[in-house]
Amino acid sequence: MAVQTVAGNTTSSAPAVDLGPAAALSCRECGERFELGPLFACASCFGPLEVAYDLPTGSPEELRKRIEAGPDNIWRYAPLLPVPADVAEKPNLNPGFTKLVKADNLARELGVTGGLYVKDDSGNPTHSFKDRVVAIAVEAARAFGFTTLSCSSTGNLAGAVGAAAARAGLRSCVFIPHDLEQGKVVMAAVYGGELVGIEGNYDDVNRFCSELIGDPLGEGWGFVNVNLRPYYGEGSKTLAYEICEQLGWRLPDQIVIPIASGSQLTKIDKGFQELIKLGLVEDRPYRIFGAQAEGCSPVSAAFKAGHDVVRPQKPNTIAKSLAIGNPADGPYVLDIARRTGGAVEDVTDEQVVDAIKQLARTEGIFGETAGGVTLGVTKKLIEAGVIDPALTTVVLNTGDGLKTLDAVSATSQATATIKPSLDAFRAAGLVAG
Ligand SMILES: *Cc1c(COP(=O)(O)O)cnc(C)c1O
Repeated sequence: MAVQTVAGNTTSSAPAVDLGPAAALSCRECGERFELGPLFACASCFGPLEVAYDLPTGSPEELRKRIEAGPDNIWRYAPLLPVPADVAEKPNLNPGFTKLVKADNLARELGVTGGLYVKDDSGNPTHSFKDRVVAIAVEAARAFGFTTLSCSSTGNLAGAVGAAAARAGLRSCVFIPHDLEQGKVVMAAVYGGELVGIEGNYDDVNRFCSELIGDPLGEGWGFVNVNLRPYYGEGSKTLAYEICEQLGWRLPDQIVIPIASGSQLTKIDKGFQELIKLGLVEDRPYRIFGAQAEGCSPVSAAFKAGHDVVRPQKPNTIAKSLAIGNPADGPYVLDIARRTGGAVEDVTDEQVVDAIKQLARTEGIFGETAGGVTLGVTKKLIEAGVIDPALTTVVLNTGDGLKTLDAVSATSQATATIKPSLDAFRAAGLVAG
């Protein structure tokens, strides 16, 4: 693959592939620009690449109307994403436009008066937020002519890739740590692609995939979170767009986001910034908070220590979907949390379980462990006086509790098991007061 820089500061030289408004890749460190292609690191400084756009011109009202008239999925934001204009007509899983639930019962328990919302991404096609990022990566894979879709995964991504590849008619071969939850393994395998368990943790899986990309064995493979990572990451912006649109084209005051690699958090910030730049929302301050499990809290540890680099950890937590010990976007997360007046915090596995059950009990939403981490951290930061209960707050639930049943199965069982008789029922003492 030839690497060509786009000369100087011209932004609109026609790219070789049609990915809609995507104009080039640009280095997040040195700003150097590259032609759109399956690249992820800057040829000059090895910094991460991200998609640069020729964003729509014209009035915000026009753009808002165009978006509102679009389909009820992420493709309503196609003018702001690296996808061809006819993306909605292609075979894909059409994720997104999940519910933003006003969580009044939970708000009462937590003492939040400014409005508390749960953005519930368990409603996506494979029941996690990962369908958003994969949908964008599939378009890049098609544009670059890849025939096999792949990834290194902590579980949810493997299922999302398997399903999206099945729908798009691509082959898939995905890699996971060998000891994931049963629900994640089954969901990754059921779509019929190849699933490979690696004897090691996620960071070992990721290292293996990087080697595979550089080897002839991996030729023609699109790894959604490695060589297609700049495109993949853009899918997370749709969370920012949806939340603002669902709030009536308004930024939330505070948002709490789980951190695995940190990509999602950085791209939600990018999405907010784009909406401000386009005049779609009023430019006012917002605070971004990051959530980790104590057993894998490299970013939280760095935040609390005042460091701007992240020291890798060896993960040990029930929140396996967030168990990345060496998060690629860690330093950018620290920067965003500090710049917006937010914070990064962590909670114990016990607090994760409590939070999963509290969300289920108060709002009828059964989140996976990542959702427990996010709500757990929200509670902790409210109690610490860091999150302001008088402001509008959005908490992400990024996955479905059915995928991590083990986390709550010991404490979520039948209240009683009885003979089918009224006497037995009366004796069980369950008659409602
Ligand atoms: C992958 C994942 C995240 C966050 O991922 P990032 O790597 O930080 O973008 C959050 N929640 C769930 C359930 C996930 O699967």
